Amino acid sequence: MRIIADRTVCAGHGMCEALAPDSFRVGDDGIVAPISDTIAAPERGLLELVVESCPVRALRLA
Ligand code: SF4
Repeated sequence: MRIIADRTVCAGHGMCEALAPDSFRVGDDGIVAPISDTIAAPERGLLELVVESCPVRALRLA
């Protein structure tokens, strides 16, 4: 299971980075900056919390 981040929707609130700093970084441009469009998440519970915590719904499970 992975999280897909839509960088066209991300508003840089940083909730994902705060909750799972090993999986997310907000870049210098203020947008979530994964290595690729998909981000490996450490565990399902945390993954679901991160998705639900994004204020602009930029994250989804895949
Ligand atoms: S929580 Fe959502 S809006 Fe905030 S940085 Fe992460 S993906 Fe972007």
